[in-house]
Amino acid sequence: MVAQRTAIAPTRDWQPILAAFEAALGKDAVIRRKEELLVYECDGLTSYRQRPAVVVLPRTTEAVAAAVQICDRYNVPFVARGAGTGLSGGALPLEDSVLIVTAAMRDILSIDLDNQRVVVQPGVINNWVTQAVSGAGFYYAPDPSSQSVCSVGGNVAENSGGVHCLKYGVTTNHVLGLKLVLPEGDIVEIGGPVPETPGYDLTGVFVGSEGTLGIVTEITLRILKAPESINVLLADFTSVEAAGATVSDIISAGIIPAGMEMMDNFSLNAVEDVVQTDCYPRDAAAILLIEIDGLPAEVAASRDRIAALCQQNGARQVTVAADPEERLRLWKGRKAAFAAMGKLSPDYYVQDGVIPRTQLPYVLREIEALGQRHGYRVANVFHAGDGNLHPLILYNNRVPGQLEAVEALGGDILKLCVKVGGSISGEHGIGADKRCYMPEMFSPADLETMQWVRSAWNPKGLANPTKIFPTPRTCGEAAQAATVAFPQVERF
Ligand SMILES: Cc1cc2nc3c(=O)[nH]c(=O)nc-3n(C[C@H](O)[C@H](O)[C@H](O)COP(=O)(O)OP(=O)(O)OC[C@H]3O[C@@H](n4cnc5c(N)ncnc54)[C@H](O)[C@@H]3O)c2cc1C
Repeated sequence: MVAQRTAIAPTRDWQPILAAFEAALGKDAVIRRKEELLVYECDGLTSYRQRPAVVVLPRTTEAVAAAVQICDRYNVPFVARGAGTGLSGGALPLEDSVLIVTAAMRDILSIDLDNQRVVVQPGVINNWVTQAVSGAGFYYAPDPSSQSVCSVGGNVAENSGGVHCLKYGVTTNHVLGLKLVLPEGDIVEIGGPVPETPGYDLTGVFVGSEGTLGIVTEITLRILKAPESINVLLADFTSVEAAGATVSDIISAGIIPAGMEMMDNFSLNAVEDVVQTDCYPRDAAAILLIEIDGLPAEVAASRDRIAALCQQNGARQVTVAADPEERLRLWKGRKAAFAAMGKLSPDYYVQDGVIPRTQLPYVLREIEALGQRHGYRVANVFHAGDGNLHPLILYNNRVPGQLEAVEALGGDILKLCVKVGGSISGEHGIGADKRCYMPEMFSPADLETMQWVRSAWNPKGLANPTKIFPTPRTCGEAAQAATVAFPQVERF
């Protein structure tokens, strides 16, 4: 994999296409000036860059459909984009493609508290949903750390997770229905306001499809009643092994915390330098942040049991935050952990792998050894409860060769995750970044089955081509098995 930055190649006549977009969406909704297009040349995976040929900003489902129909008519590939915070290059434009940005679709369309449903447009920001219903005692559970900026449409496409997904599940568990524009421009509705609909679970197929099956334009979300009581515990350990063992012991004891996060010494010091929570002991090898919620009696019992398990595993101190202000202070550092890395290093590369919880101590030792072998520092911040690791590899993109080296290190970490029975993605998706590692996890037959689904929904391959699946051009011969039956994947 190499970073890309290519000039727009005028490989087609854009004039009639631009005229069609302007007629359908209005001039203000079409961006074509090179300097304005710069904003859209990458997502959160900033090492990959490609300016799109044109950006369109529809406001309604019908306008999205019109834009997609124009792409279909002129055979132009298109890429959907929400807020552009994705970390795997899912919203990376292709050369000579159209970027369909949903940022102007920002309305909360309806709130039905009695049935615990909210219908939103895809550009609505994740935490606006909770803000809209919290006054009535409800909230929306999936809470990526980027929740103050990422869009619900992007969350759906990535099947995003977050701190509270250990107990409450990821985005797919909170999406009931979708209005979609399919890759040829048809508008369809799948799922619905009721929890069970007959037939294939097409909502399940679409959630996590990373923009390769169409564009979601309306989302029916499930909201939950806010818990009566919440406690957050901070436990600090002198070894990563002890913190890892505590995570396993808590789950084995039958307690499912709302969230259970771990930060290693490197990460917690970076966070303290930047956010100054003054809560995280700087000499700890690792800290655990554990949130429990529910009825007051249940929370009190779990809190005491968890504190005892931490102490049995050698925790030096267990602090309990019971009031909202203290809780926020404990979480503030964790939520800012990625950003804090920016103070330590000009660039960082975030990996996202999953391992069985019981393998945490072994895998963390191996990651450290891999970092030393490749010559890069790795900070570890992760959703420990569900084994979702986020190793952050620090590097300098201006030094020739460093990007390729950290990508190789990231790849070795993904292979390690697969070796211990885990996965190459927990929540950030595959996008452009990890497509070459799909064959590490899936057989040619598995990949072919997924390609059948993609081809059925996206027969011309115009919706977000080259993402998720390895192609010979992007991944060399290793990708052959994945593309043999579906040459259109390689076409763009
Ligand atoms: C600091 C930071 C912290 C993060 N923390 C987390 C975390 O805790 N958990 C987590 O899961 N992720 C996290 N992320 C990753 C990212 O925020 C999520 O993947 C988020 O869901 C992306 O939303 P977005 O609106 O930015 O989507 P984009 O980046 O714009 O797009 C992401 C993908 O969705 C597709 N897409 C966007 N909109 C639509 C649509 N309407 N229809 C169909 N496809 C669409 C795009 O084509 C692309 O493939 C973090 C990112 C950052 C920068």
